[in-house]
Amino acid sequence: MSLSERFRAAAATRDLLAALPVNPTDIVIDEVVSATEAMIHGRRTIMAGTNNYLGLTFDPQCIEAGQRALAEAGTGTTGSRMANGTYRAHLELEQELAAFFDMPHAMVFSTGYAANLGSLVALLGEGDAVLLDSEAHASLFDGCRMSGADIFRFKHNDPDGLAKRLRRLGERARDALIVVEGLYSIRGDCAPLAEYAAIKAEHGGYLFVDEAHSLGVFGEHGRGLAEAEGVLEQTDFVVGTFSKSLGSIGGFCASRHAELGLFRYASRPYIFTASPCPSVIATTREALRQVTRRPELRTRVWHNAHRLYGALQRLGLQLGPHVSPVVGVSFSERTVALRCWQSLLEDGVYTNLILPPAAPEGGSLIRVSVTAAHDDAQVDAIAAAFEQAVRRHLPGCAA
Ligand code: PMP
Repeated sequence: MSLSERFRAAAATRDLLAALPVNPTDIVIDEVVSATEAMIHGRRTIMAGTNNYLGLTFDPQCIEAGQRALAEAGTGTTGSRMANGTYRAHLELEQELAAFFDMPHAMVFSTGYAANLGSLVALLGEGDAVLLDSEAHASLFDGCRMSGADIFRFKHNDPDGLAKRLRRLGERARDALIVVEGLYSIRGDCAPLAEYAAIKAEHGGYLFVDEAHSLGVFGEHGRGLAEAEGVLEQTDFVVGTFSKSLGSIGGFCASRHAELGLFRYASRPYIFTASPCPSVIATTREALRQVTRRPELRTRVWHNAHRLYGALQRLGLQLGPHVSPVVGVSFSERTVALRCWQSLLEDGVYTNLILPPAAPEGGSLIRVSVTAAHDDAQVDAIAAAFEQAVRRHLPGCAA
């Protein structure tokens, strides 16, 4: 494809979106009111489309930690750790993450995207085999591709598909990397991690789990789905992001393998980018402490998850298979999804519209998410807005 052809394709996508009554990719949040509300199009809107699962973005202690670091250590590090130096706080966060996962090693990256790219290119090279869930996040796919390894995709959340591919790999299976997520962020469905761990035990390989959406939410200590499923010990690499439950920005990889320490010399997405700034590290450290100290945040987000899932189920909507803070509502027609999404926004509820090709299996979805900071009245308001949308645009549904 030539440059002009590529831009023509981008312009066609832009024009398609611009022709919609409200362009879902063009929503401007004029003012953030709290962890759960914002001003959009001049109206106070409930935010039901964030990844702020523990509701920590306005936590006073997280804010204070960030402000203190800004005053004491300045606005930015202005460079990479390899070239311009590691701040002590970077190392302290790495030690705290390692302790949190009860693993000997952890490494911090500048974003979750960089954590996936940086870990995968360090772990994999040409001739290696990587088994990748077909609905894995773009950063996982990009990291695998960038590594030059042979990519074998298996059907989403399908242990049999994984086992079949490993069997076909024969001897190569022993060193293969199995790359999956914990909670999938579009439909809110969970990976069968216990089954994957059993398959790994049988065929060999290493298990790499992206807990971006499950950190802080799943497991007794908030360590993620691998903890909840009792397979953290069998998980070789846990990656994640600070931009969701921890409310800041950055990413990490934690592992029980000493080789993780060598990533620093082998990972271009770590070496050639600026390190996280001091205020980000400080808010992340405080948020991580709260994951441990405040289990009530988990209790609260799960209460909201059940309340929302139950209400949407009663409306007869087509939901993902698992209850979680993310509820993916599927629609058979994209125009209906679009109209319902717009109706929700007009009723003061912001959700995420996911249209083909971004949605799994070419479908159309509205992604709704709740946080520990939503109260019952807000969750009920989200459900009521859905009821209205269904009445207006899905008359065949239970409502
Ligand atoms: N992994 C998954 C599963 C994600 O959903 C995301 C972000 N949506 C990332 C990684 C990247 O994280 P970040 O946005 O912090 O770079």
